[in-house]
Amino acid sequence: MNLEVDGIILYETPFKENSKIIQVLTLKYGLIGIICKGVLSPKSKLRAKVNKFSLVRFNIIYKENKLSTLINADIIDNYTYLKSDIVLISYLTYLCELTYQVFKESNNNKLYDILITSLNKISNKLDPLVITNMVEIKYLDSLGIKLELNKCIKCGSNINILTLDSNLGGFICQNCYNSEYIVDKKTLGTIRKYYYIDIKKIVNINISLKVKKEINIFLTNYYEKYTGLYVKSKVFLNKLISDN
Ligand SMILES: [Zn+2]
Repeated sequence: MNLEVDGIILYETPFKENSKIIQVLTLKYGLIGIICKGVLSPKSKLRAKVNKFSLVRFNIIYKENKLSTLINADIIDNYTYLKSDIVLISYLTYLCELTYQVFKESNNNKLYDILITSLNKISNKLDPLVITNMVEIKYLDSLGIKLELNKCIKCGSNINILTLDSNLGGFICQNCYNSEYIVDKKTLGTIRKYYYIDIKKIVNINISLKVKKEINIFLTNYYEKYTGLYVKSKVFLNKLISDN
């Protein structure tokens, strides 16, 4: 079936001499594997149009559950700004790799919208760490992991919430407190907002560095402990963040 479809290239592998196979996330068809014959040849007109981490309008011969074949491609967004420096490339890489892994676990086509929206927001110079952490929180739903952000993880009380702990996996109230690190008061309210906010509607972000870092540390540890996913690019990204 001949098909026109928009999708973002999340993954690519070289194939034979001049070809490659790309994994493309689309809204309607989920993840599609597309074989791009001859595109690595210097003569190919499609060479510059099917780059990793680009949003592309594809013309393909679509085969469900098999490799589709590329006929033509036009770039919708190359995310040039995100590819312009090492920190932004790291965010782009991480978000795409995370989406690829979460999609493989969940088969949830909604990830497409979340990813494209977040890349647009970061392209519009909104804080990449905040947007990335929001995506991580939203993806937990697709992984079937419910992050409890309304009550104490130990006793279920919703009053006197004192801190947030990634080992226990949520909020801790004053009564249940042992010796966990106490986060900034604002961190508790802000992480809840990350979960509930519609990323599309964000026009500006004003969050202190301390709160941002506490939320990122919590989510990094939470992912490690509860999702079973390992996304190598987050390790590198965190190194860049902590150097900052
Ligand atoms: Zn409690």
